[in-house]
Amino acid sequence: MDKITIEQSKTLFQMAQRQFDEAAALLDLSSGMRAFLRVPMQELHIRFPVRMDDGSTRVFEGFRVQYNSARGPTKGGLRFHPEETIDTVRALAAWMTWKTAVVDLPLGGAKGGVVCDVKKLSVGELERVSRRYIRHISRNLGVNEDIPAPDMYTTPQIMAWMLDEFESIRGYSEFGVITGKPLALGGSIGRVDATARGGMYAIREAARVLGMHTAGATMAVQGFGNVGKYTATLGEELLGCKVVAVSDIGGALYNDKGFDTGELFNYQMTHGGLVSTYPEGERISNKELLELEVDILAPAALENVITAENAPRIKSKIVAELANGPTTPDADAILVDKGIYVIPDILCNSGGVIVSNFEMVQNVYGYYWGTNRVHERLDRKISTAFIDMHQRAKELGVNNRKAAYAVAIERVAEAVRLRGWVD
Ligand code: GLU
Repeated sequence: MDKITIEQSKTLFQMAQRQFDEAAALLDLSSGMRAFLRVPMQELHIRFPVRMDDGSTRVFEGFRVQYNSARGPTKGGLRFHPEETIDTVRALAAWMTWKTAVVDLPLGGAKGGVVCDVKKLSVGELERVSRRYIRHISRNLGVNEDIPAPDMYTTPQIMAWMLDEFESIRGYSEFGVITGKPLALGGSIGRVDATARGGMYAIREAARVLGMHTAGATMAVQGFGNVGKYTATLGEELLGCKVVAVSDIGGALYNDKGFDTGELFNYQMTHGGLVSTYPEGERISNKELLELEVDILAPAALENVITAENAPRIKSKIVAELANGPTTPDADAILVDKGIYVIPDILCNSGGVIVSNFEMVQNVYGYYWGTNRVHERLDRKISTAFIDMHQRAKELGVNNRKAAYAVAIERVAEAVRLRGWVD
């Protein structure tokens, strides 16, 4: 992916706080409530040793930020990324808090991360890093406390090792402590493509509001990780879109006739997860992909890819934020001025945590749902949240992001008030 630096050296967490402040200003909140909701409640910052294959020991750094637990146990993924910092994890934990609230899940928000490059670790090393990390934060985890899940560069296999480590510490089975597990270990049907599928339901609702047909609409997808690849395939399958551009870390591909997304999917499976080496299509950069004249642009990779610098050149009708934090606040204002319809990340990519919640419910009940039930309930959750956001946007006369934040912040604030924490 082309490297894009954070706008005007602001940190990601400052960006998350600015989004919070802008929405909070629309609401009737006490100054104490505002002060409390703009910071995390608890942060774990750990360092742990791992024996490497060559016999040496390496010290890894990890984080878990449990941002707010007023609405329920905290929930959110784990990223294994070489540039992870406490600041990025803080921002992502804040976004999880607003995300679970806007789709009305009985959960708070959290995020975790380990500073590491999974591509440079052997399978054995990756397993030891995963187990050690969980061991070090296990006292603060539990189905009623905090529930991790996959995120960037973490997989169902990693969740399986972590579950096993956690259960061996506790001495009993607790499937619900972690979600995004493999099916054979208490995972839920439909969790793997849930983030992308939820995004497709949100795009369908946006198209309805805009009076636009998705059949034949052009779509560009940035990123071909777990979210991006299913966004491409489901964009074609569920919405009938013509996927004209895809990308990964090595660059982007453009085909004005539309790609056969099933073929792209199979190609990356057999080519180390890469799609940019696919032999057909015109080679373009990730930067060019973002600026294509398409109906739907789906950033599905990193944060901070739509900035004040490139926002004036974005030409899509809809920006569907499948990634967390892809648009900076300054860029946001530019997109709004241009009349681009943004489906904010906290709603657009909430399908993952929604089906994670379904997974926890199934784990606690010990009774598992079929595909239709998962898909129908996911659709209902996203569609209801979309209507809540849309109505709030009309009432307040603001854009979708501010409206989604307003709905979320009000829900969290109500729980905080009812608990008697802050007036
Ligand atoms: N990592 C995903 C997200 O950012 C899912 C989190 C979860 O399932 O808990 O929403």
